[in-house]
Amino acid sequence: MVANLSKAVFFDRDGIINHDPGDYTYQLSEFHILDGVPETMKVLQDKGYKLVVITNQAGIARGRYGHAEVTAIHQHLREVLAEYGVALTDILYCPHHNTTTKCLCRKPGSLMVERALARHRIDPQQSLLVGDKPRDIEAAEKAGVKGRLVPVNTSITFLQALA
Ligand SMILES: [Mg+2]
Ligand SMILES: [Zn+2]
Repeated sequence: MVANLSKAVFFDRDGIINHDPGDYTYQLSEFHILDGVPETMKVLQDKGYKLVVITNQAGIARGRYGHAEVTAIHQHLREVLAEYGVALTDILYCPHHNTTTKCLCRKPGSLMVERALARHRIDPQQSLLVGDKPRDIEAAEKAGVKGRLVPVNTSITFLQALA
C-alpha cells in the first residue's frame, strides 16, 4: 500500500528565517525574524506544505552555548509564529562540529532532512529546501529534495514568489 505523503518546505534557520549577523545567534535579544517570513509561512502552510526547520548549531560543539539556549530560541520562534497561525512541523538541529564530533547530521550531511522525511511522511519530490549556503543545498539534494540557494537575509523575495 502506498502511503499518502505530504509536501514540505524545509528552511535553513539563520539567514533564512532570522537575520544572520555573521556569527552564532544564540541569545533571544539577537534573534530577529526577517520581515514577512511568518506571513509567507502561513500562505505556504495554507497551501498544504509542512514547514520544517533544519539548522546547524555547531556553537554547541564549540562551547559557545548549550542546548538550553537553542531550545529557548526555538520556543520563542514557535510562539511568534503561533501569533500568525503558523505551526512548524518540526525543528531539527545538529549540535556537532567536525573538529570534535564526526556526524552525519551536520549539513552538508543529509541525515536531518532524511529524518524529517521519514518522521513526517514527506515526499521529497514535492518538497524543497531554502538555504543561504551551498551546504544547505547539498544536504537537500542528497536526500532527493530540490534545493534553492538564496542570498543571506533576503529569503523573503524568493519565499514570496514561492507563496
Ligand atoms: Mg544560514
Ligand atoms: Zn550532527
